[in-house]
Amino acid sequence: MEREQTIRISPEEMEAQRRFAREFAHLPDRPRTYHIVTYGCQMNVHDSEKLAGMLEEMGMTPAPTREEADFVLHNTCCIRDNAERKALGNVTWLKEIKKQRPGMLIGVCGCMVQEPGMAEKILRQYPFVDVAFGTGNIYRLPELLYRAVDTRRRTVAVPQEQSTLIEGLPIRRESPFQSYVTIMYGCNNFCSYCIVPYVRGRERSRSADDILREVEGLQKQGVQEIMLLGQNVNSYGNDTPGGITFPQLLRRISQTGIPRVRFMTSHPKDLSDELIAEFAENPVLCRHLHLPVQSGSNAILQAMNRRYTRESYLEKVEKIRKAAPDVGLTTDLIVAFPGETDQDFEDTMDLVRQVCFDSAFTFIYSPRVGTRAAGMPGRIDPALATERIERLIALQEEMTQKRFAEMIEKTESVLVTGQSRRNEKQFTGKTSRNISVNFEGSSEMIGKIVPVRITAASKTTLRGQMQGA
Ligand code: SF4
Repeated sequence: MEREQTIRISPEEMEAQRRFAREFAHLPDRPRTYHIVTYGCQMNVHDSEKLAGMLEEMGMTPAPTREEADFVLHNTCCIRDNAERKALGNVTWLKEIKKQRPGMLIGVCGCMVQEPGMAEKILRQYPFVDVAFGTGNIYRLPELLYRAVDTRRRTVAVPQEQSTLIEGLPIRRESPFQSYVTIMYGCNNFCSYCIVPYVRGRERSRSADDILREVEGLQKQGVQEIMLLGQNVNSYGNDTPGGITFPQLLRRISQTGIPRVRFMTSHPKDLSDELIAEFAENPVLCRHLHLPVQSGSNAILQAMNRRYTRESYLEKVEKIRKAAPDVGLTTDLIVAFPGETDQDFEDTMDLVRQVCFDSAFTFIYSPRVGTRAAGMPGRIDPALATERIERLIALQEEMTQKRFAEMIEKTESVLVTGQSRRNEKQFTGKTSRNISVNFEGSSEMIGKIVPVRITAASKTTLRGQMQGA
């Protein structure tokens, strides 16, 4: 397999960036406020927390809106064509604001910048963008922004085929009681529709010691729940011979005293018996597994290069259900993949009926330039694709209702995440199974795990009553 060299950013390089951050504060006419617009997945949300951490280390403070900020940074996603178009549309929209506020700086970063040819496109077609950098260059934000302000020239940095592993970035976490912890970066799987391996590089696992140190720090700060992040967490450690496996890492993390641990995302082909057993034995592990199936048809799974079959997926589902029946399964589904026949689609519908997922993210296939599927024949007529996704969504809603109905009258442990904006007596939280619950409570409950009896269900959320209230 093609391997890229992992580039570990040295402590000296990180110190050089910190120097840029300190010196930035002395630049005349420097931006003083920032606003980050984030697109895409949790990995990007967490990257934005790091970007915010660096900007605050540079002496900047958050602005509530894009229009009010001195520096607006777009942390982009390129997984789907519409996410990319939306990001570029928003960047263009800011051009008008910049005309009224010429001192404003505009930045673009994230996966989209890492796409082949995108940096050149930004330089050519978006002259009002001041700073652009890819995912492997995130740590260079202080330097790039310093240079843009100091020289009044645009700075663009995109690493070519480099897979960086970066430790020690400052993080401004969005929530004091729920935190993301990245355990690995990149992906080696090359699913034929996916651009991630090209823009996020190959798999690089963080060291277990670095991860544990971060989790212990979060536990001491009172964090209640951590979400471990990776494109395919099941591959954790494969690139570090002699290291520990993902289930072993989970066990060690669970011993830190953190009350809840969850993770995202798990490739079905790599879901091991060891991990399934962990669900049965580890009470700290949340009762939720996101297991993206993408299609219920073997022909389509093969064309997608998913390297599992419908049968092997269902077998694993059965094993999980047997070992830990209270675990809720969610999934991702793509309809109208090139060549998808009516029968292929019916196979997906049938699998959804069989598994009865708690919920599913459903998408119409969107070709990404540079991926194998983009050149495949058999594009599906858009009207048919819409008809299929509507049927799929309706079926999944039915399945969700079925799952929700099973929870009524049961008591769930709910991490209270916030208060309703419309009714100050109403609070919201997440069950261990990752389902939103609304209930009456009080503000001192925010950030705590409380028992809630489920009383009713709507389309996407549960209603409940806090026990002992
Ligand atoms: S496993 Fe497949 S879909 Fe997921 S990030 Fe890797 S290549 Fe993309």
